[in-house]
Amino acid sequence: MSYNLNVSIDKSSGFCFGVVYAIDMAEDILDHEEYLYCLGDIVHNDEEVERLKTKGLRIIDHTKLQDLHNEKVLIRAHGEAPSTYELALKNNLTLIDASCPVVLKLQNRIKNSHDDDEQILIFGKHGHAEVIGLQGQTNGNAIVFQDLAELDGAELPQKFTLYSQTTKSVDKFYQIKDELINRGYEVKANDTICRQVSNRYEELADFVKDFDKIIFVSGKKSSNGKVLHDVCKKHNENTYFVSNIDELEKEWFQANDKVGICGATSTPMWLMENVKHTLETY
Ligand code: SF4
Repeated sequence: MSYNLNVSIDKSSGFCFGVVYAIDMAEDILDHEEYLYCLGDIVHNDEEVERLKTKGLRIIDHTKLQDLHNEKVLIRAHGEAPSTYELALKNNLTLIDASCPVVLKLQNRIKNSHDDDEQILIFGKHGHAEVIGLQGQTNGNAIVFQDLAELDGAELPQKFTLYSQTTKSVDKFYQIKDELINRGYEVKANDTICRQVSNRYEELADFVKDFDKIIFVSGKKSSNGKVLHDVCKKHNENTYFVSNIDELEKEWFQANDKVGICGATSTPMWLMENVKHTLETY
């Protein structure tokens, strides 16, 4: 049976400028060189990572970096802690620094704009590369939490400064700030959420309303993918999360459905186009 779906891709979905910058940098080098090391997945999207691996990108972790000498290594958009730069000097590594300017600015703020005895709190995901890089600016002294409940038993000073990982939800950040103030703390809150993500809330909310079904395309490891998927789901309950075309299910659709495709800041446009072409074969 032919479904005759009417499929459109959201024009404002796809890579943010930080990811474009890192991928362009990697591809420029791979056009002339056989391989390039990259510290961690260049983007939280397995399909895009696989595409770049076939061009010679070699993903390594921090353990492997310890043993690497005299090579070029790309630092991805999430940025790195100072210890990575120190190791690069020691191992004679040439760093190709594609840290996103937004993340670098946040790292500098955390590093420079507070007194030594000021306690820093970072609302961010434990173990996330960007958060490790941010915490590294404070010699590991910043307290990282991803849920307010984690602070229940913590001994906090009466006064502290709050920052956020760039891809967290704006609403959640301000709820946390208000709750901490209600608990009697003096909170200097710095909203350091990247507008490349947060501006998409409204754009996506508008986009998804016009469709019968929404296919949200994102890697499962993407933080902003989770946030933006929740936005879509809130405004159109017929939203389905997929990471690749194999996860599409024909039963989700009915004849003549209007289907919208959108994605995270780490979702490549070619992948959303593949989803569109697949749906058009139904
Ligand atoms: S989401 Fe924002 S901070 Fe993160 S890489 Fe993209 S532009 Fe940079």
